[in-house]
Amino acid sequence: MILDLFKLDGKVAVVTGANTGLGQGMSVALAQAGARVVGVARRSCADTQARIEEFGGSFTEVICDISQMESIPKILNGALEAYGRVDILVNNAGVIIRNDAIDYTEEDWDKVVTLNEKIVYFLSQAFAKQYIAQGDGGKIISVASMLSYQGGIRVPSYAASKSAVMGMTKAMANEWAKYGINVNAIAPGYMATNNTAQLRGDADRSEAILDRIPAQRWGTPEDMMGAVVYLASAASEYVNGFTLAVDGGWLAR
Ligand code: NAP
Repeated sequence: MILDLFKLDGKVAVVTGANTGLGQGMSVALAQAGARVVGVARRSCADTQARIEEFGGSFTEVICDISQMESIPKILNGALEAYGRVDILVNNAGVIIRNDAIDYTEEDWDKVVTLNEKIVYFLSQAFAKQYIAQGDGGKIISVASMLSYQGGIRVPSYAASKSAVMGMTKAMANEWAKYGINVNAIAPGYMATNNTAQLRGDADRSEAILDRIPAQRWGTPEDMMGAVVYLASAASEYVNGFTLAVDGGWLAR
């Protein structure tokens, strides 16, 4: 039956940036669908763990700074030691640094592009190798952005890195679909999390953004739950290289 295809019982999901915001919402969703979840962040994921254990779900954390390449084997081995296999990777951790394009520094550029683009690629590559070794496919879901489609204002490195997420999602899907690996992305619209605190604190920008959202509200971590479970499940087996917008209609304007 169709709803059975959405179940993730027995699956192991790794979510980067799992202690707050969209990563926390997606971790809870995957656990509610039956997956055992490995959360990754620099700080504790205790709050996410409590929310998952509340309904009898299983969660473990790997604490590390994923902007370092050394974090990649640490994350994969942490998940394999905890649960013996991996099935779902959610590349969610990301950073945004705002400054006028004319003043943007190399240091800030590198920080954003390393975490949002380079690590997304190499973590996905490490998981794809593991999926191929396991022999029964797997899922890779990266978090893109409205700035995968648009340039934004005062966020040149973020726009560059999120455009890269959409591009590399297609590139990886093309080469790995034959192994039963689905590579897709979710492009959230304007969501109320730490990432947008500065924007929401600016009355003029905040009003201009809200005025343009057909749903007339900022998104929430809960709005990501259906999309991530769908892309993590057998229900999306023939969906490859696609970026799904969860944006309250922003792109439709
Ligand atoms: P957030 O509340 O700022 O959460 C970011 C998460 O990433 C945190 O869990 C953070 O945990 C983790 N993280 C950051 N740097 C890290 C590092 N070096 N190593 C390990 N973990 C790190 O942001 P969010 O809004 O939930 O964003 C999640 C994703 O959605 C990001 O990729 C963001 O670009 C994207 N996105 C957000 C929006 C939005 O409107 N909010 C829209 C489009 C796309 P620690 O600080 O403990 O490491």
